[in-house]
Formats: sequence, structure tokens, C-alpha cells
Amino acid sequence: MSTQPTPIAPNPNQELLARRQAAVPRGVGQAFPIYAARAANAEIWDANGKRYVDFAAGIAVTNTGHGHPKIKAAVTAQMDRYSHVAFQVTAYEPYIELAERLNALAPGDGPHKTILFSTGAEAVENAVKIARAATGRPGVITFTGAFHGRTMMAMAMTGKVVPYKAGFGPLPGEVYHVPFPVEYHGVTADDSLNAIATLFKGDVAPDQVAAIILEPVQGEGGFYVASPDFLRRLRTLCDQHGILLVADEVQAGFARTGKMFSIEHSGVVPDLITVAKALAGGLPLAGVIGKAALMDAPGPGGLGGTYGGNPLACAAALAVLDIIAEEKLCERATQIGEIMAKRFHAMAAKPEFACIGDIRGLGAMLAIELVKDREACTPAPELTKATSQCALAHGLIVLSCGLYGNTLRMLPPLTISDEHLHEGLDLLEAALTDALAQNL
Ligand code: PMP
Repeated sequence: MSTQPTPIAPNPNQELLARRQAAVPRGVGQAFPIYAARAANAEIWDANGKRYVDFAAGIAVTNTGHGHPKIKAAVTAQMDRYSHVAFQVTAYEPYIELAERLNALAPGDGPHKTILFSTGAEAVENAVKIARAATGRPGVITFTGAFHGRTMMAMAMTGKVVPYKAGFGPLPGEVYHVPFPVEYHGVTADDSLNAIATLFKGDVAPDQVAAIILEPVQGEGGFYVASPDFLRRLRTLCDQHGILLVADEVQAGFARTGKMFSIEHSGVVPDLITVAKALAGGLPLAGVIGKAALMDAPGPGGLGGTYGGNPLACAAALAVLDIIAEEKLCERATQIGEIMAKRFHAMAAKPEFACIGDIRGLGAMLAIELVKDREACTPAPELTKATSQCALAHGLIVLSCGLYGNTLRMLPPLTISDEHLHEGLDLLEAALTDALAQNL
């Protein structure tokens, strides 16, 4: 009798994990050990055929859903015309049209101008170049907990050491951090503004500061919302000292919070806005939008890049802007936020979910912060990590974030159906129940 070994069931996820570990450095983090096979609107299927509800949207990128037919059609039509000619060599209309439309969307009176890049970090780097050229000053003030990217200057501006900055120094100079106002952890708007006043006394004179840059809703930092009052006081401070106010809308932009740009909730008009992520619904595209006189400060050739404003990405972005208007995605973001917040408040009222310490956000940029002790607000990062892993097992993709790693952030596509939204929330509740049972 032959002893045939029992065939091992194929496991493409596991095979891809092994290949990934051998071929790709570990420095590129990976939240989950699964590999995407296909995606449609708010659903993703992995290499093993398992289905997930998507509450991550590729980190706030597919606000218009995976595979929107209008984006597909726009990119395909553009591909048939030309895919790359370099804007700096033979410029093209989709770039110009997109700049015109973004200028028209920018808060405040024009004229505005827009330059396009490929990544959020690049947009941030270039906002600093423009601010320095326009003011003739070197200094940049950013906030603790901020995330502005992984390139050298953007990394220096990011306000979290591990994993973003540790081991990568020396960092570029003239970057100053002050605490972001997070009332939940005892930092008030006054504390933040006092820290800037102290900075002006001890470290850098205000007339040496080109820009204060902030995320009106901190993304990676934990979905902390800057209050309209704080933003207005920052604007006043900037005006007093001739400092530019830069809103980093890379994560919060393009309808996510219920407005095209999150800073619009405050009525404050920034000098420059950095955009990326959801702008092109999944194609790499970023930009700086700003007041024309500032945007024209750098001389010809000082800004740009081979791929910046790639035609396929511009075509996708034009479709994204149409979809946001036609499908009323700002209104839908507000509605999604209300549905999620209602569900989380109902959960938090139950004794078994005393771990939900805070529920916050703007529109469909909503988070829950998990704590060991509600009174003391002691962060529970292990529980948070376990919940997102349990969510994966249940069929939900949800990401953690936060300076303390104890925040679960909800970023579903804004095109998600009510059915999938409620399904995702049910899966999250089941995942949190499972994670709590682990007694971490
Ligand atoms: N700014 C913010 C607010 C971000 O959230 C991010 C990315 N998470 C970036 C900048 C950097 O964008 P990218 O990863 O495209 O370089």
C-alpha cells in the first residue's frame, strides 16, 4: 500500500506572505497578513477568496469606492489618448482643468493657483518650499502627533518618533513642534498657543517662521479635531507675524469630513492647502493649492517632477470631483458619520464596552479611542490591535492610529451602502467583544 502524503490545501495568502518576506523589506509595514485579489466599492476579496467590508479605503483614498465606473471610464479614455508626456515638456489640458477646478474649490477669495505632484509627502515638501520662497524665512512650526509623510522634510515635520523618525537622522533643521490641542488628554487650545509663544521666546523669532502647518483633523495622530476657535486664533497669530497658515488636507480632504476640505468647518481661510489621497480615487496624485501670489514665488524650474500631475491621475481626479458633486458625497459623509456615531454611543453606554473612552471626528472621519480606565483615559493599545486583528477574522478591514496606538479609525468609502455600513459596524462590535474576551 502506498503512503501518499495528504495534499496541503493551497493557501495563496500564506504563499504571498512568504514571498513578500523574502522579496520586500520589513520597513514597509503591513497591517494584515492578507493579499488583495479584487475590490468593488466597499468590499475587498483576498487571495484566498475571503470577503471583507472595507473601513480603511486604502487609508482614506477610495472615498469614491473601489472601481467606480466613472473613474475607470475616464482613465481608460485618457490611456487611449496618452498616458505620460511630462507636464514640463508638453503640457496638457487635464492638468490645467484640474488646477482650475481645485482653485475654484479652495476656500477664500481668489485668485488661486494649483501645482500637482504624486504623493502627500511631496505636496508637504513643496508647500514648505513655496512658503519659504514667498516669505524668505526658514522656520516651520508643526504639531506633536502630526503626520506629514516619510520623505526627509516631511518626516522631520511628523510629530511621532517611532516608527517614523527613529534611526533616520539627522533630520532637516528649522522644524519646531508644539503640542496639538487634545482636550481629551489634557492639552487645551491655550496650552498649544502658549507653547508657540514660548517657542517664539526661546527657540525662533516669529519673523523667522515661514509657516505653521497643521492637519485640521489629525489623521495618523488619532482623529483629533482642531476646534474652530483654535484655528481662528492660529490664523490671527499668523496674520500678526506674517506667517503662512498651511492646512494639510491629505487625509481629511475631498468630502471625507462632510465638506470638501475639513478646514471649511471653521470658516478659517488657509494660505496653502496640501492635498493627495482621495483626490484621484486611487491613482497617485497630490497637490498644493494656494493664493496665486504665494504660489508664484518660486521661480520657473524650482518646482515640479517627472510624474507630477500624471494625465491618467488627472483624468481620475476630474471624475472624482464629478462623483463627489453628483453623488452628494459631502452630505453622505455627514450621514455616514451620524450612523457610526449613533452606533458607537449606543455601544459605549453598555457596561461591557466601558473600554470606549472617546468617540470623535468630523463626518465620516470618525474614531473610537480605547482605554483601560475611562476616568484616567489610560490608553489600551493592545486591545486596539487585537480588535483590528479580530475584525479581520470576522471580515472587516479597520485600521488603528493615534499617538498612543489606541484609536480605531473608521474610513469607509463614502459610496458605501447602508447595508454594508451596518454590516461593518456589526462586525466591529463582534471583534471588540472577542478582543475583550482575551483579557489583554
Ligand atoms: N499628510 C497627511 C495628513 C497624511 O495623512 C499623509 C499620509 N498618511 C501624508 C501627509 C503623506 O502622504 P503620502 O503617504 O502620500 O506621502
